[in-house]
Amino acid sequence: MARGTNLEQTREFNRRTILGAIMRQAATSRTEIARYTGLSLTAVSNIVDDLVRVGWVESRGRRQTPRGQPPIEYDVAADGAFAIGVALDRDLLIAVLVDLAGQVRAERRTAVDEPTLREATDLTATFASELAESLSRRERGRLLGMGLAVPGVVGQNGRVRRMVRLPAYEGVDLVTAFERATSLEVTVTNDAIAAGVGAASYGPMRGAGTFFYVLFALGMGSSLVMRGHPYRGLWEATGRIGHIPIESDGELCPACGGRGCLAHYVSVEALVERLQASGHTGWTASLDAIRGRYAEGDDIVEAWLDRAAEALSRGLIVLENLIDPDAYVFDGRMPSELLSTLVQRTEARYLALRPRSAGDRRLQLHIGDRGDTAVAFGAAAVPLYLATTADLSLL
Ligand SMILES: [Zn+2]
Repeated sequence: MARGTNLEQTREFNRRTILGAIMRQAATSRTEIARYTGLSLTAVSNIVDDLVRVGWVESRGRRQTPRGQPPIEYDVAADGAFAIGVALDRDLLIAVLVDLAGQVRAERRTAVDEPTLREATDLTATFASELAESLSRRERGRLLGMGLAVPGVVGQNGRVRRMVRLPAYEGVDLVTAFERATSLEVTVTNDAIAAGVGAASYGPMRGAGTFFYVLFALGMGSSLVMRGHPYRGLWEATGRIGHIPIESDGELCPACGGRGCLAHYVSVEALVERLQASGHTGWTASLDAIRGRYAEGDDIVEAWLDRAAEALSRGLIVLENLIDPDAYVFDGRMPSELLSTLVQRTEARYLALRPRSAGDRRLQLHIGDRGDTAVAFGAAAVPLYLATTADLSLL
């Protein structure tokens, strides 16, 4: 869409470019910001002064340097802006309040059982107003809105195109439904994309290049983040490594209609299915229960780990050949001990299987520490991302 520009729009564009550089590239001095954004030092200085005055950015004092005039360092101000993030899944609803510096100020959560839209909007409205009330009146004026993350493919219009775990939501205009319920501006995003945005702005990948985020929800999701921005692709479905076919005659995948998809071997849902099939009746997908099984050295969990590591390592080989990302982040609703074992075994399998052309390159595999709040946190990071990004077409 071609749009006329005027000075004010240009200034807003530059303001967001600078905020984004500070937030996601961890550029801290005026010189670094100018180098990163390509703007003149004068323009950067003016805009940074402006951002300090309105409270989005704050000075962190002078950097410690051995000689010369040390530069003043800047960072985003924690109380510069706030956002609410909501993670909605078939069995769990989590809401968090996050500030511009990425600190979780408050959290609400409840178990749900395939909630109707009405149940989900009612619960979300209650949580959102409780979270907003925890802010002072002045801070409430800086609440940018709410990010809602769902385990499905979300179109640019905020409608869910495909969501196997909550099929009743397919085609529903979630933006309007949740905006009516909460009176907040709402953005709807796929759960793995939201979690990726959270990791790019505030996680181990702040300031990093290209990375893949692998999310363990009930199923398995993933997203591709390039220099701080999620890459969504033509059909909003980029980075879905869960649907790389690992076995040509494998089981039918209800999500994509293919066979032998990676997610079928790697997800928590897949582990729970195997446990149930082996006669663990009355089994629920509780993380504590899985953690207990793993600690006991359960054969089924061990076999699942080996099979999952094998499948995941093949997925990583595809990604290495196709994208060659700088790093991978793994996080979500999987007990951390189990996740770190899975990642270790995956790396070992990758090293055994990888193509010779990869040389002796090691994979950069990071395990996030947000656990089951990774998606809600990422959902909150989305409105903060949008307010600090110049190119809105990227999200
Ligand atoms: Zn599939």
